[in-house]
Amino acid sequence: MAEIEREAMEYDVVIVGAGPAGLSAAIRLKQLDEDLNVVVLEKGSEVGAHILSGAVLDPCGLDALIPDWKEKGAPLTVPVKEDNFYMLGEAGQIRIPNFPMPPLMNNHGNYIVSMGNVCRWMAEQAEELGVEIFPGMACSELVYGDNGEVKGVVAGVFGLEQDGSYGPNTEPGMELHGKYVFLSEGVRGSLAKEVIAKYDLQAGKEPQKFGVGMKEIWEVDPAKHKEGTVTHTMGWPLGSNAGGGSFIYHLDNNQVYVGFVVHLNYKNPHLFPYMEFQRFKHHPVVADLLKGGKRVAYGARAITEGGYQSMPKMVAPGVALLGCSVGMVNVPRIKGNHNAMLSGKAAAEAAYDAIKADRSGDELSDYEVEVRTGPIGQDLKKVRNVKPIWSKWGLTASLMLGGLDMWTNTFGFSLFGTVSHGKTDAAATGKAADFKPIDYPKPDGVLSFDRLTNVSFAATNHEESQPCHLRLADPNLPINVNLPQFDEPAQRYCPAGVYEVVEKDGKPDFVVNFQNCVHCKTCDIKDPSQNITWVTPQGGDGPNYPNM
Ligand SMILES: Cc1cc2nc3c(=O)[nH]c(=O)nc-3n(C[C@H](O)[C@H](O)[C@H](O)COP(=O)(O)OP(=O)(O)OC[C@H]3O[C@@H](n4cnc5c(N)ncnc54)[C@H](O)[C@@H]3O)c2cc1C
Repeated sequence: MAEIEREAMEYDVVIVGAGPAGLSAAIRLKQLDEDLNVVVLEKGSEVGAHILSGAVLDPCGLDALIPDWKEKGAPLTVPVKEDNFYMLGEAGQIRIPNFPMPPLMNNHGNYIVSMGNVCRWMAEQAEELGVEIFPGMACSELVYGDNGEVKGVVAGVFGLEQDGSYGPNTEPGMELHGKYVFLSEGVRGSLAKEVIAKYDLQAGKEPQKFGVGMKEIWEVDPAKHKEGTVTHTMGWPLGSNAGGGSFIYHLDNNQVYVGFVVHLNYKNPHLFPYMEFQRFKHHPVVADLLKGGKRVAYGARAITEGGYQSMPKMVAPGVALLGCSVGMVNVPRIKGNHNAMLSGKAAAEAAYDAIKADRSGDELSDYEVEVRTGPIGQDLKKVRNVKPIWSKWGLTASLMLGGLDMWTNTFGFSLFGTVSHGKTDAAATGKAADFKPIDYPKPDGVLSFDRLTNVSFAATNHEESQPCHLRLADPNLPINVNLPQFDEPAQRYCPAGVYEVVEKDGKPDFVVNFQNCVHCKTCDIKDPSQNITWVTPQGGDGPNYPNM
């Protein structure tokens, strides 16, 4: 194929992804020097369209970045008033009192927010400072310089032929070059994955771990709505099949975020995370709240869970990884947005110093030091053993030993050192023959819904004539290997019903309905054969979340 000619634009810093990490970096750069040229590229149709984390936000990141955020009208209007923890059994629950919880678990001072709306507001702040933000522009390739450094990205390729070739309607996009490129693509970023592999950034670190988070927004009966209430549950329905739990956050306007996270290191390939979520809503504690209400939105996204010991090296020549492209979620708190913001600020400060010193295209090692030793590292280090203890010894051990470890870490020491995560989530998957299939009740269409009906509430959309963005290294492997060995778990782990095994001419056939994809990246993470690679589809495609 002839070399593609593209226009190139030069910037000081090119930022991929308008989440809390990328937008914080952009804002901080312009706060430090209004003359810096900064661009943010976002694959969603608008800023916020792909943001799912609706969310209890610890405002420490925003406090550091924009101390007068209240006066500037930031959409943090619902302070947390009540914190509840429940251990669920099938028909009942035990309330875990708040007093034995380590102080870091307390949500006092935090806010229930739509992170989509927080990002929309942050984008306004960035644009007022002169940042250029281009939504609907997916960054599909990295551009390397003569010395092997990352010098930019290709963005805005549209209209590829179905086989991936260039046709008469293809727009080749453009190259955006920067003295530094920030990858703030969130969890399992596709360009970040390339950079981690190319520069071997995971070497010497624990494997990254993940969960899949699914969320619905409900409008509930005003009589049952308690603005500012935060509830977390553990236990039923997952039991010993998988780690995970739920969150129920009462926002304003009678809206409630109901979400469920399943740790992706589950062994039983018959497990169906989406159906666990649907079943969960029939527990009396949840059903009583939702009855008489209606579900108005649905979405899903993977969440990083490896924490402190899994963070890869986060800088390579010309490039820095930010936020959840590194994995900065504090797992017991289910919070990563504050660290994403702090990482954006730290990366911006390192790039500003470097650019002032006439540097470019090298490693921003000051950024890495700040993340590991500053507030982000301190936040994550204290809780580093909770997830591996849970994975190794189960929920009760995690509550007792993980709780004890969080307490001792509050005073600066751990009895356990650093517990290792062991295998990747893909490698943790067991063989189908070694596990019992799980019988899930049929959704009732009132509290629980089938997957495709729910996906329509994600308003996801993909131009059908483009190439499938879920690439199979070996198209025959799902039927020849995954089906006999693992009962092809893609049929179940995908929360959007992208993957199906159907019968064609009397034989099983693997179908990829990429149009349904909500960009959660679970397939890229959990496929036991690591045969699926998620690459970005063209800009503007994917979910259109209203105020998740
Ligand atoms: C179900 C769930 C619940 C959560 N709850 C909370 C909570 O209550 N509180 C909390 O603090 N944290 C929570 N988190 C964690 C939080 O979502 C993350 O820590 C946070 O989103 C990380 O921010 P980020 O900027 O790194 O990435 P993201 O917020 O994921 O933003 C990345 C952005 O980059 C864009 N992008 C990606 N790739 C490309 C590309 N190639 N080209 C162009 N654009 C691209 C994406 O579309 C997206 O807009 C939750 C996560 C999940 C999944």
